[in-house]
Amino acid sequence: MELRLFFLGSGCSAPTKERNLTSIALQFHGKVFLFDCAEGTQQQMMKAGISYMKIDAIFFSHFHADHFLGLPGLLATMNMYERDVPLAIYGPRGIEARVELALKIAGIRPDFEINCIELKKGTVLKEEGFSINAFPLKHNTACFGFSFKEKDKLGKFIRERAIALGVPVGPLFAKLQSGKAVKVGKKIVKPADVMDYSKGRRGRKVSIVLDTRASDSYVEYIKESDILIHEAVFTSDLIDRAIETFHSTAREAAEIAKKARCKKLYLTHFSTRYENLEALLNEAREVFPNTYIGKDLLKITLPMNPEERIV
Ligand SMILES: [Zn+2]
Ligand SMILES: [Zn+2]
Repeated sequence: MELRLFFLGSGCSAPTKERNLTSIALQFHGKVFLFDCAEGTQQQMMKAGISYMKIDAIFFSHFHADHFLGLPGLLATMNMYERDVPLAIYGPRGIEARVELALKIAGIRPDFEINCIELKKGTVLKEEGFSINAFPLKHNTACFGFSFKEKDKLGKFIRERAIALGVPVGPLFAKLQSGKAVKVGKKIVKPADVMDYSKGRRGRKVSIVLDTRASDSYVEYIKESDILIHEAVFTSDLIDRAIETFHSTAREAAEIAKKARCKKLYLTHFSTRYENLEALLNEAREVFPNTYIGKDLLKITLPMNPEERIV
C-alpha cells in the first residue's frame, strides 16, 4: 500500500519567489488528506500531480492566515467543478464558524456536504488500516500537530493451514488474524496455529508539527515516527525571535527528532529572510544527521517498514 507525502509549500508568514506557503498532502490507499490549506494550494497540488478534487479531509493546525487562506478558493473551485462527495474539515475550536466565513468570502453555497469536526487531543480519524491523531502544540493560539499511523500487521495469516484445521472460509479468518481464538466444532483453533508471527510489520508513522515552540510536551505523540515534518522558522542565532513568536529553530527541531527517536526529519516553514536554507540544514544535521529540507513540490514515497517482529 503506497504512502506518499507531498510538500506543497515551505514558507512561513508570506510566500517568496521560490517558496509557497506550507501545506502538506498525504496520500494513502486511495485517500488524500491535506494538512493546512495555504494560499496557492490548488496550483501547487496541480504541479505536484495530486488532485484537489480528491481530497477526503482537511486538517487545520490553526487559523493563522498563512495556514488557512487557501480554503475559500479551494471550496469555490470544488463547487464549480461539481464535487459531489462529502468533505471533512478538522480544526481547533471555532472550525465551523471559520468554514462558514470561508464560504461567505467565496460567495458560494456548496452543493456538496461539508462536515466540520473540532479537534481534541487523541484519535480524530480511524479507518481500516490507519488512524490520525491530534495533539496540542505550543503556539500563541490553539494549535495542533498530527500523526498518521498505519496499523501494525501482526503477522502473516496462513490460509491453507486454517482450512486444513477445518476453519470455514469467512469471518473466523479475520478473528484469528486479529489475535482471537475461534471454536470450530469442539476444537479451539488459536491464532498461533495459523499465523506466522515472524512476518509481522510495524505500521508506518508520519508526524506533522507546524507552528510551535519546540517542547517536550509533544515528544510522546511523535515518538518513533518514520518521518517527522517539523517547522524550523529560524536559525539558532534568532532564538529570541523564535521564543517571542512561538516558533522553533532548526536545531530545536532536530533535538525533538532525536528525543522522539524519529527516523528522518524534514524541516519546513521557513522565514522569508532565508534565501538559502543551507544554514538551517547544517545546524539541524549537527544534532540529527538524517535531516532534509522539505522544499516546495518535494514528493516522498515511504516504503513499507521491513518485516520486523512486533509481538
Ligand atoms: Zn505559520
Ligand atoms: Zn502560526
